[in-house]
Amino acid sequence: MSANLTFSGFQKLDLINFPGYMACTVYTAGCNLRCPYCHNPGLASGSSDEAYTADEVLSYIEKRKGMLEALVVSGGEPTLHFSNLEKATTEGGASCAFEAFLKSVKSLGLLVKLDTNGCRPAVVRSLIDSALIDYVALDIKAPLDEEGYSRVKPLIPAQEAAENIKQTLEILRSWSDNWEVRTTYLPYLLSTQDILKMVQQTGRVPKWYIQAFNPAVTLDGTWGQLSAPQEKDCQEIVSLMREKGVNAFVR
Ligand code: SF4
Repeated sequence: MSANLTFSGFQKLDLINFPGYMACTVYTAGCNLRCPYCHNPGLASGSSDEAYTADEVLSYIEKRKGMLEALVVSGGEPTLHFSNLEKATTEGGASCAFEAFLKSVKSLGLLVKLDTNGCRPAVVRSLIDSALIDYVALDIKAPLDEEGYSRVKPLIPAQEAAENIKQTLEILRSWSDNWEVRTTYLPYLLSTQDILKMVQQTGRVPKWYIQAFNPAVTLDGTWGQLSAPQEKDCQEIVSLMREKGVNAFVR
């Protein structure tokens, strides 16, 4: 049923990506951003050599029915693979292979978590309306405006990327509290003023996680020369966010 759908990574047991659940994670290839600090350049550019079919993943899940509790859909940017979903939703047409895959996963009793950069709000809306996702982790990478998002080199206009993410935020806020925001922090990319601006632009969120930039592997090799921020730097950012009423944590 999902013959054309393949994933570029498959982690069979993942206890990190969806805290509290025994999960497995599929990784999709391709991304509509080119964050210079991206720690998975092969996935972002779509050049990864790995390939797992949807049927392989479903078969693995089926054999562990009752033990596995959740599937994490990560990338790259997974929403790029729902090319037909917006059309299907607006025209009532056939669903795409990814949607069929998620329906099968749900029928096996798993929760589904989506990791997204938020640039395709219509896909997030559709997945919520179809009850195909249970939790969303939304990356907010920079101030939500043209200048901010130009720092992460989107393949669509930076202003459009920022506006799309604002739409995704509204969709999530009107849905539930089953979502979080994540931001990769490094002082070279984000100043204290940037963080305050992001807090003001983003509005109410259930949880916001600050994660330190990791220079071990980076899409832009020159960023690998930069130092990772220290734990105390991230804690200072979180304290600042908490002063503004944000339910923020270091991850
Ligand atoms: S870090 Fe940026 S470039 Fe890499 S997968 Fe995430 S959104 Fe795409």
